[in-house]
Amino acid sequence: MNADTAAGRIAATVRDDIRALAAYPVPPAADGIKLDAMECPYGLPDAVRDDIARAVRNTALNRYPPGDTAALADDVRRAFGIPPQAGLLFGNGSDELIHLIVQACCQPGDTVLSPWPSFVYFDMAARFDHARFVGVPLTADLQLDLPAMLQAIEHHRPKVVFLALPNNPTGGLWPDAAVQAILDAAPGLVVLDEAYQPFAGHTWMPRLPGLPQAVVLRTVSKIGLAGLRFGYLAGHPDWIAQFDKVRPPYNLNVLTQAALRAVLRHKPVLDGQAARLRADREPLAAGLAALPGVTVYSSAGNFLLARFSGQPGGNAVHLALKTRKILVKNFSGAHPLLADCLRISVGTPDENRALLRALKDILSTH
Ligand SMILES: *Cc1c(COP(=O)(O)O)cnc(C)c1O
Repeated sequence: MNADTAAGRIAATVRDDIRALAAYPVPPAADGIKLDAMECPYGLPDAVRDDIARAVRNTALNRYPPGDTAALADDVRRAFGIPPQAGLLFGNGSDELIHLIVQACCQPGDTVLSPWPSFVYFDMAARFDHARFVGVPLTADLQLDLPAMLQAIEHHRPKVVFLALPNNPTGGLWPDAAVQAILDAAPGLVVLDEAYQPFAGHTWMPRLPGLPQAVVLRTVSKIGLAGLRFGYLAGHPDWIAQFDKVRPPYNLNVLTQAALRAVLRHKPVLDGQAARLRADREPLAAGLAALPGVTVYSSAGNFLLARFSGQPGGNAVHLALKTRKILVKNFSGAHPLLADCLRISVGTPDENRALLRALKDILSTH
């Protein structure tokens, strides 16, 4: 391997914008308390694991995944309440589906638009796929700025609008009337990304048949199956048929399909975990809000955004927690609206207590 030669060729060959980027940060697995990635803190019960093991044992790993995913689709429709009129597309995580949408809709330079800050991958996928990303700033208190959204839609005529409902990393669930106004104004496709729907108790899914301009995107990552890599897109079958054309063949591997079908036979287990996290969210929010200098934003997800405006600020608190082996996500430098903000996943009651204890200590000993 001649490094000098590689460096020269890379500079001449790889896109400038890609060379200037940092890869999507995936922190190394660490022991301690992991509250940085909206994972479900609960493992699956043994009975479910046994069913998964049996299902996986019977997969034909020597064969490509079957093209016919009707049985899987039936299970997904039943488990997640997909309207019978809607078509379904499956992805290797919903991240992949975000790419497929941009690839199918956008010519180089076409606009993808989203309120901002929101899910970073909307921006990344748009740029990788040669689209132009426009982020419309939230208000100072991190709410949707509807007049600014409508103005930006009118000005940029986006091919695709992404709305995370609730929004990551801020946690807010945009009001139905505002979302409807965006649906009415958008000239192209509106993607309603309901990654956190199980914690919000709110969905657009049943209204989908009356919304020819919208698709609903979901994932199982936040309800205890982040390692499985499975997302689904529901929408008018004609939209789905277009996105299916740019889907890499065999994007959904046989192990994921087999394990998912086994887990969905135990759907109440997943629902119970989500209900637990939803119930534990408000006590954690109250505990955080009681700390000096901390503002907590109202959240409909399995996480909370908290601003540490006192001393020490967000960066120092993030570091002090890390020293204590408690991982949260630092957004301090990500966007001016998120100065001193940390995003904290709701953990088990023990983890939440440990976090609050550590924060009390960090904020009082300064
Ligand atoms: C986590 C997240 C996703 C990505 O989920 P995967 O299925 O794990 O790729 C999509 N959208 C939003 C808003 C998210 O926060």
